[in-house]
Amino acid sequence: MEYFLEVVLPIPLEKLFTYSITQREADFIQSGMRVAVPFGKSKIYTALAYRVHQNAPTAYEAKEIYQILDDVPLVGPFQLQHWEWLAKYYMCTLGEVIRSALPSAFLLESETLILPNKETVVDEMELSDDEFLIYEALQHQSALKVQEISDIVDKKNVLSLINGLVQKGVVQQKEELYEQYKPKLVRYVKLSEKYDDDQQLEELLNELSRAPKQSHVVLSLFQLRSGNNKPIPITDLEKQSGSSKAVIKALIDKDILKEYQIRQDRVVYDEESEEARNIALNEHQSKALEDINIGFAEDRPVLLHGVTSSGKTEVYVKLIQQCLDSGRQALYLLPEIALTSQLINRLRDYFGHKVSVYHSKYSIHERVEVWNNVLKNAEKAQIVIGARSSLFLPFSNLGLIVVDEEHESSFKQFDPAPRYHARDAAIVLASLHKAHTVLGSATPSIESMYNARKGKYGYAYIPYRYGDVLMPDINLVDIKEATRKKRMKGHFSETLINTISETLEAGEQVILFQNRRGFAPVVECTNCGHVAQCPNCDVSLTYHQRINQLRCHYCGYHMALQQACLACGSPTLDKKGFGTEQIQEELGQLFPNAATGRMDLDTTRGKYAYEKIISAFENQEMDILVGTQMVTKGLDFRNVSLVGIMNADTMLNFPDYRAHERSFQMLTQVAGRAGRTQKRGKVLIQTYNPYHQILQQVTTNDYDKMFAEQLYEREQFKYPPLARIIKITLKDRDFNKLNEAAQWLAESLRNVLGHQILGPEYPPVGRIRRDYLKNILIKIPKKQSLAQTKNSIKRIEKSFNAISKYKSVRLVYNVDHI
Ligand code: ADP
Ligand code: ZN
Ligand code: ZN
Repeated sequence: MEYFLEVVLPIPLEKLFTYSITQREADFIQSGMRVAVPFGKSKIYTALAYRVHQNAPTAYEAKEIYQILDDVPLVGPFQLQHWEWLAKYYMCTLGEVIRSALPSAFLLESETLILPNKETVVDEMELSDDEFLIYEALQHQSALKVQEISDIVDKKNVLSLINGLVQKGVVQQKEELYEQYKPKLVRYVKLSEKYDDDQQLEELLNELSRAPKQSHVVLSLFQLRSGNNKPIPITDLEKQSGSSKAVIKALIDKDILKEYQIRQDRVVYDEESEEARNIALNEHQSKALEDINIGFAEDRPVLLHGVTSSGKTEVYVKLIQQCLDSGRQALYLLPEIALTSQLINRLRDYFGHKVSVYHSKYSIHERVEVWNNVLKNAEKAQIVIGARSSLFLPFSNLGLIVVDEEHESSFKQFDPAPRYHARDAAIVLASLHKAHTVLGSATPSIESMYNARKGKYGYAYIPYRYGDVLMPDINLVDIKEATRKKRMKGHFSETLINTISETLEAGEQVILFQNRRGFAPVVECTNCGHVAQCPNCDVSLTYHQRINQLRCHYCGYHMALQQACLACGSPTLDKKGFGTEQIQEELGQLFPNAATGRMDLDTTRGKYAYEKIISAFENQEMDILVGTQMVTKGLDFRNVSLVGIMNADTMLNFPDYRAHERSFQMLTQVAGRAGRTQKRGKVLIQTYNPYHQILQQVTTNDYDKMFAEQLYEREQFKYPPLARIIKITLKDRDFNKLNEAAQWLAESLRNVLGHQILGPEYPPVGRIRRDYLKNILIKIPKKQSLAQTKNSIKRIEKSFNAISKYKSVRLVYNVDHI
């Protein structure tokens, strides 16, 4: 009887791959375990076991697997089901999903290492030039990877060359699989068990009296041990005794002390606090909780729409408590940048060590630990707070998913595949587990509100801020008028300057918001109009003042700022646009006595950089914080009574059908940072266009009107939620070939799908990392089957791939592109 194993390789293959296995392996392997398999000529991959069966593949001879890497499945059945859904819905391969879903440490890497063979005496004259190069390199290095050898001899296929060297006995081949993940180990010491016996101990102490240093160490160990039974780290013993490592080691060697190790999780947890556990909901929160539970009882996801500072978090806490009480796991999803220690601490106050955090700024090791804890359904992973990738964790018994800030577009993964929307993927995951989903926001997305109005989602609403705090007082400042009357200082209107002064005098804090989008400052020649461009991408280089460089935000290309124009040589260079950096600089001149800080991508790169800025601002080490989008995310600053928005217009004018919805959300969210305590907060929005309907809706906090108007426009122009969008991006280095291929594809799609095809069109940035790009947009009306449309697209892709001259052109699908 023959046995076969279908596996998923972590690479973009359309099909699963089949290997041959023995009967014993067939009995042992379960789907979701990892196996090491050979692939192609020389590669070894970690693949995921999918299915054991007895049908030999017809197209190729099945190779044997190398090794089974797990004793129990690393990936559960719900996960696999979910991943298959992701692959299908978002039009990518299961391999791509796995590549994204598993922490890279689990995708055990295989490297063929080539080592020198020390046994043989090599006659150098017998070697060819290439062979000699490798031989020589191995005199200086203990091992080389196949790829490195390839580089040394500048040839692609070096396997036969290496084989020749192996035959001549010059080198050895070593196949090495290694786990990248190493749990952090702490070394402890204790007294050897034999001294549990009092007499033995006495003898030992007598004996040691002749070795005072060693005796001192043993006595120090007694001191550390007295009073508690905790393990004693070697480092503590070193400190306590003031002895060197060598003395302790001598005792270990003599079997007097014993060294041992305990695996320690890197992330350490706080204890829960009584006070936090006893918070009672007010009537609005209680009503919302009730409504949510009604929706849950009907098995519907529920949209929780609560104005900023209405106490949504406390409602989530009650829901999580319900979930834990029923013995199930809870997942709390947030956009990456909203994952602040403020929120994590709040949840830890409630749930103590039951809370785990999973996000991209954590090390591989930390992520592996969380994964394993979730897999074991460990106590400390009953609640996971995380960014979108935490949807991939191996939950076995999920009861609740909270999607906080559900309107955030950063829930959609842009690159690489799977290009999934975490909110939508969460709803699917919850349904597999028969779990509940709550989507929360002060400014729900048009999609979610539409679903709530249609009855697809339940709905709960909290219209008031918690504790009778008033909604902020929002005013518009007409900067067109101010500019005309010359009442602007730099980017600051007189009104804004005066209000900042008043706020600072009252000892309160200010947040100034500058939208990142469209404000990359460029350096322009006022003589000839030349703006420095990136040689790889079709974009202007951005000026970074601090490092005095021009940089490309797409590929990282950079150069020092020139003294004179590169085109005409004139020294008349002018910096256009303004970013947070420039505002901070202007502040320095306007308010020389105020302490200012800045929060944007540049200042928050390190693991704790973001936290440091937040806590400095919380501790009032700064008076004014200038920031981008990041300052809008769920932060709760007590002492902020003024929020200033430097310019609302670029946001509104951004060429995208969502620009208005996004502007409303962003402005409302940032305004929501003001006055979260008793005193009513103030918000000033500077704009050239104070009569814009969105700005009016923001000032009057009129979500319903915004929703109605936007929905009407989406209906008129057939945009989501009234249609679905699939974007196809074509990429190639050859501009002409790309254009031709895009034309061919668009026409073929039009033949089948009719008028729903837009493009091909150049994206705003037409070239990235040397690749030219072109987009085709497919609008699929709600009533048309999405699955069938995707099948048609896939069929056309097949024909496309069959055209040999388009071979190098890559297609990227983005389903529900936003
Ligand atoms: P949201 O998430 O809706 O913006 P939060 O949950 O952050 O609002 O609540 C705003 C503030 O009100 C927080 O400081 C929170 O601790 C407090 N708060 C909310 N609900 C309660 C409650 N039931 N009892 C005491 N304090 C509450
Ligand atoms: Zn570039
Ligand atoms: Zn010039």
